[in-house]
Amino acid sequence: MHHPIRLLLVTIILSGAPAVPLRADTAPILLIHGGAGDISREELTLERETAFRAALGAALEAGYAVLDDGGNALDAVTTAIVMMEDDDLFNAGRGAVFTHEARNEMDASVMDGADRSAGAVAAVRLVKNPILLAREVMEHSPHVMLIGAGAEEFAIERRMELRPPGYFRTERRWRQLLETMDKSASAEKPFGTVGAVALDRQGNLAAGTSTGGMTDKRTGRVGDSPIIGAGTYADNESCAVSATGHGEYFIRAVVAYDICARVRYRDESPVESAKVVLMEELAALGGDGGVIVLDRRGRHGFVFNTGGMYRGVIEARGRPRVAIFADDDT
Ligand code: ASP
Repeated sequence: MHHPIRLLLVTIILSGAPAVPLRADTAPILLIHGGAGDISREELTLERETAFRAALGAALEAGYAVLDDGGNALDAVTTAIVMMEDDDLFNAGRGAVFTHEARNEMDASVMDGADRSAGAVAAVRLVKNPILLAREVMEHSPHVMLIGAGAEEFAIERRMELRPPGYFRTERRWRQLLETMDKSASAEKPFGTVGAVALDRQGNLAAGTSTGGMTDKRTGRVGDSPIIGAGTYADNESCAVSATGHGEYFIRAVVAYDICARVRYRDESPVESAKVVLMEELAALGGDGGVIVLDRRGRHGFVFNTGGMYRGVIEARGRPRVAIFADDDT
């Protein structure tokens, strides 16, 4: 007679489950971005450059501490993004850009590569950390995306932290709105959407993105950041992506998903795929911006077709490596 345990094992092996064995020894890695655009050394003061580098480094360290403690990729992604949402340097949470009607309307999304569960919110005005609300949608609702008043009702129900509109406002963003509306002035182009991708010790990927969108946007305009497959995507079988740039183009080119589809079906590396999608597909439409990419084997990179991207990476007990300009090493 066959031993029952041996039979069970044979059945598991033959049925092929689990499809990809979980490895408890994966070296964790976390990549973040704080927006892409024509960032130039001439326009960025040393003071702001130093502040950006410090903020990116702090977000990387906080997110990596989660991974180092054996925490999951999703927690690392949300931890890093919350830090950047709370920092008014970035166009996400506090410091979000203004709509044409002088309001802040924020979008965010998160995706778990282990089972491709996802959550997103759009056009929220009073939620302190939109990325946490996106996660709440993923974990505590049967939906993937909630918008506007409905998203905010859900936030109240879930006892999320809310803030009055004044909390999100900064003088710099206000000036940027006025300059953009006054087309004769040369407006400082606002960047600062934030995002993160992570790989945890169990070999799981996650991705998240959070933004105030584009300055002077119409009320109700939604960009790529909360659109799963456009601004955010994660699947253990392919890769994890968070994007930043001119959202309309990222939606039309389905950037995040296209990168991961190429990894999955053409067996390209995530960086190779991202280069094709950004430099050929997106550029052909006239769009600009950048992405952070990472796969389960730890292959990762930053790809952008703009002058710079606020970005950083931290891996295996290393110190955070942070970069801004195109010619900075990462
Ligand atoms: N992608 C964002 C949007 O279109 C903006 C950005 O990344 O700067 O809403």
